[in-house]
Amino acid sequence: MDCNQHDEFECEFFTSGAGKALCKDILVKNFGICGLLKLLLLLENPRTKGDCQMLIDVPINLSDYRDGEGMWQEHEELVVRPLMESGLADVLPTQELTSDALHAHCIRIDSNSFEVTAKDGDTLKGIFVWGATLPHHCVPNTVVALDEQFNMKLYAAVPLQPGDIIYNSYTNPLMGTSQRQHQLRLSRRLECICSRCLDPTEMGTHMSSLKCKECPGFSVCEIDSNGKLGDWRCPDCRALLTAAEVHELQAAVGSALVDAMGDLQVYEALLTQYGPLLHPNHFMLLDIKQNIASILRAAALMNSMDQPCKKLLARRVELCSDLLPVCRAVVPGISKLYAIGLFEYLLALVELVELQFAESDLSKKEYVAHLRTASLVATEAMDLLRFEPENSAEGYLADRISMELERIESDLKKYGR
Ligand SMILES: [Zn+2]
Ligand SMILES: [Zn+2]
Ligand SMILES: [Zn+2]
Repeated sequence: MDCNQHDEFECEFFTSGAGKALCKDILVKNFGICGLLKLLLLLENPRTKGDCQMLIDVPINLSDYRDGEGMWQEHEELVVRPLMESGLADVLPTQELTSDALHAHCIRIDSNSFEVTAKDGDTLKGIFVWGATLPHHCVPNTVVALDEQFNMKLYAAVPLQPGDIIYNSYTNPLMGTSQRQHQLRLSRRLECICSRCLDPTEMGTHMSSLKCKECPGFSVCEIDSNGKLGDWRCPDCRALLTAAEVHELQAAVGSALVDAMGDLQVYEALLTQYGPLLHPNHFMLLDIKQNIASILRAAALMNSMDQPCKKLLARRVELCSDLLPVCRAVVPGISKLYAIGLFEYLLALVELVELQFAESDLSKKEYVAHLRTASLVATEAMDLLRFEPENSAEGYLADRISMELERIESDLKKYGR
């Protein structure tokens, strides 16, 4: 093994130091312990111990977490028990490691971690204690970017006024309110009552709304002034849909999604089956649509469709464009997520109109009009990625979009006169 690839202190700890007798398979068999093991070794190393102090000082009240909901059980099985059984606690006596101490570390790591893309493209957890102190809002007003040295930089996503609270989001904005809240409760013991969570229409998107059973309207979740979610009711005819009915329906869609296993026909069948029961912007329909779009995209890349069929390309354009207004509403301003949505739409659109033009379905004038749209979309997407460092995943995406833009511009020069 090349010792330049890993930390000198850790190397010595396991080869000749206190950890010499530990079974080296522990990481292979229990990949989940990686993060915590790293922390324990950083704490053991006198040169790095100080760097961890802020994290270690985060107070954790274990009784808030021990109720079985959330990550406790997973931590116990995948991290704490394997580490305790490995004998590591015995060779790090000054850290006084008990099961509870390890659980507290796990919670500290989880609630202070951000997704980081490693140099090899892998997704890792990065601990940013200051970063994690930003309060949460389901519609954040900042964007977090990590530079090549993994320094966190925070930018305003929308114009901020003096006195505005600076928010980050610790959840997936493309989920509905009850799902976001569930996730926040599990991961951060947080009860969100942000403006989106208090708005039954979720900023007018209706991402959790269902088709009314009695009239052509849509039922929305009733939310009391404390943010507690209730039943669903149609504002037009007052018809009731109980929360239990809604959850049952969502659970059915959820498990059907899991069973779909990447099968295009199954996803399309799910859309046909559940589309009439849900608002067109319902987060589960958006999820199904995104699944279909990415299958179509992969198929186009691999040329696995018999012909790059115009019907499927048009379907992809439609699916990608359905997501955009919803995405825009829940992540306003500068947003990676919206940039990615625009990019997917751009690729689909350009592929479709190029083929349509080549097969003379589009006149030169129509083709040029589509290219102008594509050029605007590409420019907007690049603008949204302007804070991303060059050699990050988002930086590569910006390069990719700029290549696409060049191609569009050159066609515009050729046909646009
Ligand atoms: Zn080594
Ligand atoms: Zn919220
Ligand atoms: Zn109704």
